[in-house]
Amino acid sequence: MITDNFTMEVSGLSVDVVRKDIKNLHVSVYPPNGRVRVAAPQQLDDEAIRLAVISRLGWIRRQQKGFDYQTRQSQREMVTGESHYYQGRRYLLDVVAHDGRPSVRIVNNTRMELRVRPGATRDDREKVLLQWYRRRLREQIPLLLKKWEPKVGVEVAEVRIKKMKTRWGTCNREARRIWLNLELIKKPAVCLEYILVHEMVHLFERHHNDRFRDLMDQIMPQWRLFRETLNRAPLAYEEWKY
Ligand SMILES: [Zn+2]
Repeated sequence: MITDNFTMEVSGLSVDVVRKDIKNLHVSVYPPNGRVRVAAPQQLDDEAIRLAVISRLGWIRRQQKGFDYQTRQSQREMVTGESHYYQGRRYLLDVVAHDGRPSVRIVNNTRMELRVRPGATRDDREKVLLQWYRRRLREQIPLLLKKWEPKVGVEVAEVRIKKMKTRWGTCNREARRIWLNLELIKKPAVCLEYILVHEMVHLFERHHNDRFRDLMDQIMPQWRLFRETLNRAPLAYEEWKY
């Protein structure tokens, strides 16, 4: 496949262009800085690409603003009264000083009680919450694999969780290993399920081509709705690559 990569200036915007054997032009805006990347069909000339970017400038700017918001959101103070998300719901953080083991619990479906030692720093508090998020995500995986492995017709060797900036999930086909973005635990449950199934289907088909979409349609007919939910949920990274 011939690729031709270059950077183009459009209205003060620096745009990375990649030519590929594809039918449609795709514009993506990536966190955390709002980098713009265009994937363009081979036969499309520079001027056509420039016009396509210009016609999407409003959309691009909106995405970049969203990332600014996201960056602010991620630089939390970890103090009482802040909003934090878990499985698609918003909770008000309640930081409680407590001499025992640090913990997190959901209270009355509205509060996320974070118990930390007196004098715990912001980073200490965040670490406790991230560990809790990780455990909550981890504990869902066995049941989801049990449900989806027979439907997809594949056995997953291992699922790992990590913080990723540009992907919701990724996989290694040879090792049959899947990585899920820790952020998924903040999204509605169907989003986690969708990304897991998406990566399982990648174990058969690497590319997002017709075969991939056919498999997804057979295995999880509502996947487009789930994808939309993922991109619409609070704290969404619009146009993430997955
Ligand atoms: Zn994918």
